[in-house]
Amino acid sequence: MLQQTQVATVIDYYIKWMKRWPTVQDLAAATLEAVNQMWAGLGYYSRGKRLHEGAQKVVSELKGQMPRTVDSLLKQLPGVGRYTAAAVGSIALGQVFTTSFITDDWSGLVRVLCRLRAIGADSTGPVSIANTLVDPERPGDFNQAMMELGARVCTPKGPLCSQCPVHSLCHSFRKVSPQRRSW
Ligand code: SF4
Repeated sequence: MLQQTQVATVIDYYIKWMKRWPTVQDLAAATLEAVNQMWAGLGYYSRGKRLHEGAQKVVSELKGQMPRTVDSLLKQLPGVGRYTAAAVGSIALGQVFTTSFITDDWSGLVRVLCRLRAIGADSTGPVSIANTLVDPERPGDFNQAMMELGARVCTPKGPLCSQCPVHSLCHSFRKVSPQRRSW
């Protein structure tokens, strides 16, 4: 639901959805018509359809068990691409995914990591970032925090370094002389 739609809009839909279909089995048993009705207003209906197809596949072919790795999420569930697999893998399954899963959709995270380490790289595309930077204990929290930081503070233009919670760790921040800082 959060792909292409803001959190504030999604919250009500998510609560109603989970109340009606609290388990993957419940969703699998629903009709596509009911799914589309529930999705009305969120846009991009293919997301609801794919979610429904995914639930049906989990129930009919995977004995009701969700895939437990990033690789199997990617291979076994329709509509799950690298971005979603990496997000679910790190947030729900606590997996440290490999850099091959970083896509353009993760550019905010890549930008923050590049700036923190002052790595000269094209932060709009996939770059090789050492997996050791990801907290192995809490990869989901780490990835969410980095993406949030990239979206709200360490923005592409005019980063809010004076408000940044990690500026004391940031190599780029240190490299820019105080006179040249716009913050
Ligand atoms: S200090 Fe500035 S450049 Fe460094 S991570 Fe924070 S916002 Fe980004």
